[in-house]
Amino acid sequence: MARYGLDEREWQALEDEVLDLFTALLRVDTTNGNETEAARVVQGYLAENGVESELDGEVPERKSLVARLDGARPGRALTMMGHLDVVPADAAEWSVPPFGGVVKDGYVWGVGAVDMKNQVAAEAVAVARLARSGAPFAGTLKYAATADEEIGEFCGVQWLCEHRPDALRADYCINEGMGGLWLPVDGKKVFLLAVGEKAFAQFLIRTRGRGGHGSVPEKERSAVIDLARAVTALGLADPPAIVSGTTATFIDALVPDATLRTRLKDPATARAAGAELRRLDPVVAGLVEPLFGATFTPTVLSAGKAVNVIPTRAEACIDCRILPEMERDDVREFVAEVLDPLGIEWEFEWVDVTTPNASPPATPLTGSIERVLRRDVPDAVLAPMTSGSFTDSRWVREAFPDMVAYGFAPYVAESFHAMDGGRDHEPDERILVEDVTYQALFFERLVKDLLA
Ligand SMILES: [Zn+2]
Repeated sequence: MARYGLDEREWQALEDEVLDLFTALLRVDTTNGNETEAARVVQGYLAENGVESELDGEVPERKSLVARLDGARPGRALTMMGHLDVVPADAAEWSVPPFGGVVKDGYVWGVGAVDMKNQVAAEAVAVARLARSGAPFAGTLKYAATADEEIGEFCGVQWLCEHRPDALRADYCINEGMGGLWLPVDGKKVFLLAVGEKAFAQFLIRTRGRGGHGSVPEKERSAVIDLARAVTALGLADPPAIVSGTTATFIDALVPDATLRTRLKDPATARAAGAELRRLDPVVAGLVEPLFGATFTPTVLSAGKAVNVIPTRAEACIDCRILPEMERDDVREFVAEVLDPLGIEWEFEWVDVTTPNASPPATPLTGSIERVLRRDVPDAVLAPMTSGSFTDSRWVREAFPDMVAYGFAPYVAESFHAMDGGRDHEPDERILVEDVTYQALFFERLVKDLLA
């Protein structure tokens, strides 16, 4: 029986090769660090396949691996990258040891199974297979298994961009994101393709008031009461909707109902239509609604130390995320529009601001992804989208403005709904053996197609 164009024996050999490397990586605990040990696992595997690599970075236990494979003829360059670190896991919440690299019930289990040692392993296997078959492509394939994505202490991709730009610079880049997950829509499989990401525009609001003894209430100028009003107003406010071209195309791909689609794409009706979509399909609404503009989520509140003392100041942190189409000044303006009518005095301070970033959605890389995927999944449709979370793609987009970077690793068997909207950063993180095996095959074929 043929599977994705391979006969049973070829598929089994590929599966064994992927699982060997993947489970070895899962067994190295890289909770926010210790990436060098995992990078050495990849280095050993690549060396066995005749591919030289280097470990680079200033922190000895937090190095990244970089490698390159030159094709038979000159041509363009593609970088395939992925991070080796993972987020902390509580073993008590898991049904298997989180760093056991367990293969069971058709799945591979472990922290990093989908975020993203799967892709690190699949890309490495693609590199090895291409090297073994004589690098049958034009141009250059670069590979990077990097440190420090989850906390961002400047020793991973950001460091490489600054100190080893040649290791990453290319025409195209494939990385993580939400890309590769699929949803069934109208009898088709709609695959997400992450072409951009929202950014942090986190800020704090500070109010000041008269202090005093708690036994004598202060209602005119209370820092706490004023802050509570500000938090309520901001937390419940919906900024005017924006519907970018990418978002409109994304809605077209994901929403089968034509009238609902029209209202979602009209900024005047988008918010109300989003609420309707939430009742119909919360998973799709969770992807679409954050794309209508900035989001404002009050998180950390602080004021006062003693119950009987009226504090003179109070602060609230707001986790705000903005779209690639927005500037941080838009956020300040909107905050003023919401808070000024309250008649309170307030101060504004940025907490953490990153740059929203995106690559154009229609490029030769999109064409290659679509061609390769459709050969194996004939009813596949690509839906370019802006992802709500950030990845290392922002560093390469910033360092190399002409480089097209997408998040994509296809899950051909298990759907986004079956995965409950993704499994990253959750207990029992796992991936189907079939999906991670296919990912290796996909990356190999993608290189041959794109660098033809
Ligand atoms: Zn990740």
